[in-house]
Amino acid sequence: MPELRKDPIIGRWVIISSERGKRPTDFQGSLPGKKGGFCPFDTGNEQTTPPEILAYRDNGTAPNTPGWNLRVVANKFPALQIEGELNKQGEGLFDKMNGIGAHEVVIETPEHGETLASMSEGRLEDILWAFRDRILDLRKDQRFRYILVFKNYGEAAGASLEHPHSQLIATPIIPKRVQEEMEGAKAYYSYKERCVFCDIVRQELNQGVRLINENEDFAAVAPFAARFPFETWILPKTHDPLFEDAQKHEYVSLSRILRDILMRVEKVLTNPPYNLIIHNSPLRETDGRYYHWHIELMPKLTRVAGFEWGSGFYINPTPPEEAAKFLRDAIV
Ligand SMILES: [Zn+2]
Ligand SMILES: [Zn+2]
Repeated sequence: MPELRKDPIIGRWVIISSERGKRPTDFQGSLPGKKGGFCPFDTGNEQTTPPEILAYRDNGTAPNTPGWNLRVVANKFPALQIEGELNKQGEGLFDKMNGIGAHEVVIETPEHGETLASMSEGRLEDILWAFRDRILDLRKDQRFRYILVFKNYGEAAGASLEHPHSQLIATPIIPKRVQEEMEGAKAYYSYKERCVFCDIVRQELNQGVRLINENEDFAAVAPFAARFPFETWILPKTHDPLFEDAQKHEYVSLSRILRDILMRVEKVLTNPPYNLIIHNSPLRETDGRYYHWHIELMPKLTRVAGFEWGSGFYINPTPPEEAAKFLRDAIV
């Protein structure tokens, strides 16, 4: 019998279609093919990208030359433009504003063939520090309300370049998905005087059925109302509204659990394409009691089709308890 499940944060219902009983092998893992050819993110090609905004590089090496371990540059084809005013306007009953924002690319490594799952924990930690450094800088811009950090891995997940990279987009409005989570978390808090995410972590650690892995600071779980097969969330174990406020030991633990989870996903699903996002508190949110930052990882295994588009229901063919078990039992 398929089951309807309600997401405890935003109240979205999903359909867990367990009778289809999809196992990892039922999904086609697609290894991102080696396309070869010119790569603008390789060492030696620094002049082909916009200039560095930030770089972690060897002492004595000049900006925009070789010798870097990580670079952040503006996106050459930005979704939003950094220059200008928002110029909010009404046009009859319609509202509009200029497409102002920042769109940056984090070139995660000089090694073209690495993946987040194969790189060292130290390198992964550097990527987290780069996210933090860029958030701290971008949040000074008063035009911005939100900064989304995300990664598309593999062509099917939207990556146009195979060289390891992630992106940050700062937007002048709070994105709808985040707004929904904020409102849901706020409503839960005003009713129970507890953070819904803290409650989820506590319960999942107690029950264990949807727990994939944990360490001192983080828990990785398959969410109860997972939208997608093998959807995984990584949450701080103690309440924390802001990613950029984390301490050194937390970035160390996070790089460890993130690498572990990505290795499990790669093993169980044969290196699938995926989207990874960091859900963080909106900029200038003053009440830090109810929102709790977290990572959502969505392997790209199914397509969103007509029913999902038309209804807003997601149909998930793999119960999260089974997905968690496959990932938990994987030997990595
Ligand atoms: Zn490359
Ligand atoms: Zn919390």
